[in-house]
Amino acid sequence: MISKTSGPRPGSRLRGVVLLATAGLLAAASMTFLETTAQAGTARLSADCASGYVGLTFDDGPNPGNTNNLLSALRTAGVRATLFNTGQNAANNAALVAAEANAGMWIGNHSYTHPHMLTLSAAQMSSELSRTQSAIQNAGGGTPKLFRPPYGETNATLQSAASALGLRTLTWDVDSQDWNGASTAQIVQAASRLTNGQTILMHDQYATTIAAIPQIVTGLRNRGLCAGMISPTTGRAVAPDGTGTPTTPPAGGSCTATYAEGQKWSDRFNGQVSVTGTNTWTVTATFRAPQKVIATWNATVTWDGSGTVMTARPNGAGNTFGFTVQHGGDWTWPSLACRAA
Ligand code: ZN
Repeated sequence: MISKTSGPRPGSRLRGVVLLATAGLLAAASMTFLETTAQAGTARLSADCASGYVGLTFDDGPNPGNTNNLLSALRTAGVRATLFNTGQNAANNAALVAAEANAGMWIGNHSYTHPHMLTLSAAQMSSELSRTQSAIQNAGGGTPKLFRPPYGETNATLQSAASALGLRTLTWDVDSQDWNGASTAQIVQAASRLTNGQTILMHDQYATTIAAIPQIVTGLRNRGLCAGMISPTTGRAVAPDGTGTPTTPPAGGSCTATYAEGQKWSDRFNGQVSVTGTNTWTVTATFRAPQKVIATWNATVTWDGSGTVMTARPNGAGNTFGFTVQHGGDWTWPSLACRAA
């Protein structure tokens, strides 16, 4: 482990500029530098939450070209949401399911093919639900505990099929109408009706929805509300629990990599990844061009041919490592995947 031998700590703008030069020199020399975890800030929920919690939900993902934008907007806003994935999208975009889980989102079941469930036999209902559970589990999304029926259509037969798989059926309290052509302003307006414990229906695939996220979060904070998790017991939005996830981690030698935002400068940012579940991990972090990693610390890293996929392994410095990204205008956090190896 190499201590940072020169350059002041980040903490003022001027110091940040000096550190840039330091980081560049270190990168040029193919060295890594150490930065204490205390220096890296983390994305935080509202400090207050005096008025309670609401559930932000996004259905129908994951979708290539959309889900990364959604995750980026949620991360930037410092909130976590519940994402109701269809099984077929989860199966077709497994890496995005893992990215959702690694971004700290809660993943729910939204059927496999998004049918009108009440037109199906009980056996077909069960198949839609169980295949989706498997697809999400296989993609590293854990085991969902919540089921949102497509179109909100449910009845006793469907609810009992869901219950048999450990799924609580959940519709919504507020419909953003994003699926019906609502503007960003209208989506923000819909969210302003949320009260403690309620959930709002939104979707993975609309630019209007993603554009609404910063204003929604600001509006909630102004009203003392925080984005919470949805309790599988009550179906109400509550404070995230100690484990941080209502899904069951995938079985068998798995691990979880959690991203924390670090120091930011005009041209670059620091990120930190904490791994839980094993001490012998391999974390894959996927960056987006034109981003360039100019320094790493507390891990041994290798790169793929594209220069965007970094593989990190322990170097004896524990289970938290970090990096500096020259962002080139793209502030998107990397997608993470962890495996025990
Ligand atoms: Zn849907």
